[in-house]
Amino acid sequence: MKTKNKTHNDNCASTGLISVKQAIKTILDEATPVEETETIDILHALNTVLAEDIRSTIDVPGYDNSAMDGYAVNSTDCQREGCQLPVSQRIAAGHVGTKLEPGTVAQIFTGAPIPEGADAIVMQELCKVSADSVTVNTVVKTGDNVRRAGEDIATGHTVLSKGKRIRPQELGLLASIGLAKIAVKRKLKVAIFFTGDEIITPGQTLAAGQIYNSNRYTLQGLLQSMHCEIIDLGIVPDTLKATTDILKKAAANADLVITSGGVSVGEEDYVRIALEKLGELTMWRIAMKPGKPVAFGKIDKTLFMGLPGNPVSVFVTFIIFVRALIFKMQGAKDFTLQRFSVVAGFDWPEVKRQEYLRVKLVQKNDQTIAELYPHQGSGVLSSASWADGLVEVPVNQRIAKNDSIKYLPFDA
Ligand code: AMP
Ligand code: MG
Repeated sequence: MKTKNKTHNDNCASTGLISVKQAIKTILDEATPVEETETIDILHALNTVLAEDIRSTIDVPGYDNSAMDGYAVNSTDCQREGCQLPVSQRIAAGHVGTKLEPGTVAQIFTGAPIPEGADAIVMQELCKVSADSVTVNTVVKTGDNVRRAGEDIATGHTVLSKGKRIRPQELGLLASIGLAKIAVKRKLKVAIFFTGDEIITPGQTLAAGQIYNSNRYTLQGLLQSMHCEIIDLGIVPDTLKATTDILKKAAANADLVITSGGVSVGEEDYVRIALEKLGELTMWRIAMKPGKPVAFGKIDKTLFMGLPGNPVSVFVTFIIFVRALIFKMQGAKDFTLQRFSVVAGFDWPEVKRQEYLRVKLVQKNDQTIAELYPHQGSGVLSSASWADGLVEVPVNQRIAKNDSIKYLPFDA
C-alpha cells in the first residue's frame, strides 16, 4: 500500500470529519457493560457473555481410556514384534473391564476405560487376529494410545473466564464438565427503526418511487446473531414529529437505539435533529466510505447509533462500529476488530476517506488473495452478499495489485 501523506491526523482537521479510529474510540469510551445477569440453560447460551468464572469439579477425561479400537496390553509383554497373546476379555465404551491377566490382551474400543494391569493400547490395524489370540506386529511403549485422566481439564482448573463470549465449542466444553446452567449477562435491549417515506415491507406491492426495507432484515440478522433482544419499531415517515416521537419511545425502552437513514444533511433527514432535541449528539461525520454520516450520541443513559440509509453503509458501519459497541455493552472482554494481512488482487486509487471495499478471499499458489467485487456502490447490497469481508484502505493511500493489505472478515 502506498502512503503519499502520512501527516493525516486522527481528527481530519482539514475536512471536519472524524477518523474511523477516533470514532471507534469515542463510541467505545461511552459504552458501559450491562450489570444484570441471568442463569440460563447452556443449550440457550450461544453468543451470550459469561458473567462468572467457570471451574471444573471433575477431571476430563475422568479416567484413563483408549484412544483407539484395538487391544489393551501390558507393554512388557510386547517388547518385540510378533508376540502372540491370548485375548482374555472384551471392553466396550461405557463398560468397565477386570484386571488384565498377565500375558494376555483385552480387546478394547475407543473411549473404554483401560483395565488395571494394562499400560498401552495397540491399534487393531497393527494386530493379526486368529481364533483366540492376537499377534502384535509392533514394539509397544508404555502410554501408547492412552488418553490420560485430566489431560484435557484437571479438577479445579478455570476453563472459561468471566467476559468470555460463548461459541459452539464453549457450549461443548461446558457440557464436558457437566454444567447444565451458567450465569451470563442479560440480553442487551436494542431498539431499531427505519426512516424513509419510500420504504415498505417485503410482501407488499411496490408503488412508484418505493423500495423494500432491506435494512430491517440486515440489522435484524446482525442483532439476532449477537443474542440481542430486539425491539423493532418499524418504519417511520420523514417528519420531525414522527421521528422525535419514535426516538423517545425507543430510548425509553432500550440500552441502545439503532436507526437507518435520515442522518445526512438533506431536508428530509430528521434523525440528527430529533436526537439533538431529546439528548445529545456526540459525533456524526466520519471520514469513511461507505458511511460518512453516522450519528452517535445518547438520550439519558441510552446510547444512540444513527446509521446511514444506504444498505451497504448499514452493513459496513455495523461491522466497524456497532459490533464492538454491542460486545462491550454485553460485557465481553475482547471486542477489538480482527484484521489480518492478505494480498491485493486488484488496484485501487488513492482515497480521501478511509474506504471499506467488499472482497472475497481466494487461495492461489499458497497466497491468500483478496478479489474485489466490481461494483462498490453503497447501494449495491449484492457486493456484501458476494463478499466474505472488507479491505480497509486508509486515508491518502492507494492499493496496487500484490500489495499486502488489511482484511476484516464479516463473521469475526
Ligand atoms: P437517507 O440516508 O435516508 O438519505 O437514505 C439513503 C439511501 O438509502 C436512499 O436511497 C434510501 O432510499 C435508502 N434507504 C434508506 N432506508 C432504507 C431501508 N430501510 N432499506 C433500504 N434502503 C434504504
Ligand atoms: Mg431518507
